[in-house]
Amino acid sequence: MGSGRKRGGQLGLLPIERVDEVVDDHPHTCRRCHTLLQGEGPDPLRHQVREIPPIAPLVIEHRLQQPTSMKQVQAPATPNTNF
Ligand SMILES: [Zn+2]
Repeated sequence: MGSGRKRGGQLGLLPIERVDEVVDDHPHTCRRCHTLLQGEGPDPLRHQVREIPPIAPLVIEHRLQQPTSMKQVQAPATPNTNF
């Protein structure tokens, strides 16, 4: 209790250098008097949403190598003279 954190476990805003994407929303009319709005004010209301990117599986190919055995490589056996 009494920590600097806001209620609800909210984290503070990260500095803009650590933000990956900024989305500017522009309301078109004043909420109170419905006057048309344009431009950007100096002090937008900011909030940050933390999202975990989709988990993408790594594709790993396993190869069981099949080295040629030394017996297969050797010169053919001497001709069979044992008739
Ligand atoms: Zn207004």
